[in-house]
Order: sequence, then structure tokens, then C-alpha cells
Amino acid sequence: MEILPIARYLGIISSPARKALARELYTARLEQKDLISESAQCYHFGFVLDELDHFHFSPGQFVSAVAEDASGKQQTRAYSIASAENGKRFDLCVNRVENGFFSNHLADLPDLPIGGTIRIHGPHGHFILHQPLTDSIFVATGTGIAPMRGFLQGLFPSTGEDLSQGKEIWLVYGTRYESEIYYRDEFEALAAARPNFHYLPTLSRAPESWTGLRGYVQDHIARIVEERAARLGIPFPGPAPDPTLLASELKFDIYTYICGLNNMVSSVRELLTGFGWHRKQIVFERYD
Ligand SMILES: Cc1cc2nc3c(=O)[nH]c(=O)nc-3n(C[C@H](O)[C@H](O)[C@H](O)COP(=O)(O)OP(=O)(O)OC[C@H]3O[C@@H](n4cnc5c(N)ncnc54)[C@H](O)[C@@H]3O)c2cc1C
Repeated sequence: MEILPIARYLGIISSPARKALARELYTARLEQKDLISESAQCYHFGFVLDELDHFHFSPGQFVSAVAEDASGKQQTRAYSIASAENGKRFDLCVNRVENGFFSNHLADLPDLPIGGTIRIHGPHGHFILHQPLTDSIFVATGTGIAPMRGFLQGLFPSTGEDLSQGKEIWLVYGTRYESEIYYRDEFEALAAARPNFHYLPTLSRAPESWTGLRGYVQDHIARIVEERAARLGIPFPGPAPDPTLLASELKFDIYTYICGLNNMVSSVRELLTGFGWHRKQIVFERYD
């Protein structure tokens, strides 16, 4: 096992072999399970891969979880990793889907108690931060927060060097109720500690007593882009990208990363395109 990560880093494993490696099944032992929102039935899971020395992945990637259903059929579901690299550990954030097989398999205590195991393969996916790092807007609803938590842990590690390079980072998180703002304490503490991180939770069904942002994520993205343009003295909306340039020649100083259900993802993409953004500046992961 030890030689493989080294070989992968040195690039001496061919692409098909890499794919085969990514499909290798690991056993993930559950170390932590917290119900983080009763009303949304959302769980935080902490897993350990005992058989590995280190689980290598880029923040934002997902694992494929594999289990047999009651009829013995193998079921596979994708789950974004809700943490940055952390030795042999990784986190997931999953909410129960009514009548869904896998989300309930993970959430039900008899199926998956502490110390219980699931099988996974991965990491997979291309929902990762562009390099070199730029100003970035992270937009999520529901458990779409999972990869964003991974990005933020990677940029602002709790121990060690700040890797955000002073770039402005916004997290716009949309949900219905206050009780469904996942990881709120963590993000509030981060925003208080790092002046270049801006945390914007917004509620679509806020009670009168709520003093924070209201409405959908789309309602707040325009303001971020407009205020940034004013601060930098660039036009808003910007000019359409030069169609004569090749994709490889395009340079952007800001990206938006969107994760959640298709309706929200499509409508944020449409909004940004209307501001003159190029499609390559809008990176997204859809859960449905
Ligand atoms: C790349 C990727 C990453 C993902 N990461 C996460 C994650 O971090 N956390 C997470 O909770 N989910 C995530 N998902 C969704 C996840 O893979 C499953 O679709 C979800 O857990 C439901 O699976 P299930 O077996 O419980 O339901 P199923 O048995 O597959 O479906 C039962 C019913 O629920 C509907 N349904 C399926 N998925 C959803 C959904 N997401 N929301 C509402 N209704 C749904 C189906 O149409 C069906 O009617 C991700 C999906 C993708 C593609």
C-alpha cells in the first residue's frame, strides 16, 4: 500500500492504472456520527481508513460508497468529502432522503453504529479549486456545504499556514430555517478570525426574529460581484469574454464554485453568465 501514493505523486502510474486504483475498495470505519440538524435530518460522519497510511484527495472531491440493499443488490452513491486531507480520516455530511436507500443506511443507527464500517472507492471528481488561487465565491444549499467545508479547511487549516494567500473568499449558504445552517459555529469562528473570509448564510423562510440575510443565494451573489467590481474599478456587468481567445488563453481573477441541487445550480450559473462571466469561471457539482 505504501508505494502506491508515492508512485502516484511521481506520475509513474498510467492513467488506466490510476483509474483502477481509484476503484479499489476501502473499508471506512465510523468514528463519529452527529445529528447536526434534527429538522433536516442531516448527519455529520467522521470515518477512518485503517488500511491506509494517508488518504490523498483534493478538497471538493467525492467518494463512492457501496453497500448491498435488502435484496442483495449492490448500490453505489456519491458523497462529497466534507473535510480537507487529514491523514487517514475523512468526513461526510449527509441528509436522509425520504425512502432513499443509502442515506438511510448511513443515518440509521442499527445499520451504521460507531465502529461500524462502509466500503468506499475514490477519490473521484473534478470539483476542485483552480490554481493559481483567485478570489472565490462558494455557493451552496443543503448538504452542498460538504465540499465547501473541505475547501475552507484546505485554505484555512486550523493548524499550520494560512493557504488563502489573502484572496477574498465568500461562502453564500442558502437554506430554509436557522436550524438547518450546518457547521454554522465553525464558519462564524472562521469569519471572525480571517478578515478575507466572508460568511453569508441566508434563509428563505426566516422568522421575524432573524436579523441575518433573507432570500435565496442568488439574491446575494449580485451584491458581492457588484461591490467587488466597484472596489477594483472594473465594469459591472463585465464585457462578454473575447470569443477569439482559446480556452487555455483565458485568465480569470475570480471563480464561483456552486454545489447543491440542479435548480439552484442552474439559476446561479444563469445569473453569473448574465454578468458577463465566462462558463469556465463557474465551476459546479450537482447532486441530482
Ligand atoms: C457528486 C455527488 C456528490 C454528492 N454528495 C452528497 C453529499 O455530500 N451529501 C448528501 O447528502 N448527498 C450527496 N449526494 C447525493 C447522494 O449521492 C444520493 O443521491 C442521496 O444520498 C440519496 O441517495 P439515497 O440512496 O438515499 O436515495 P435513492 O434511493 O437514490 O432515491 C430515493 C428518492 O429520492 C430522490 N433523491 C435522490 N437523491 C436526492 C437528493 N440528493 N435530494 C432529494 N431527493 C433525492 C430520488 O429521485 C428518489 O425518488 C451527492 C451526489 C453526487 C452526484
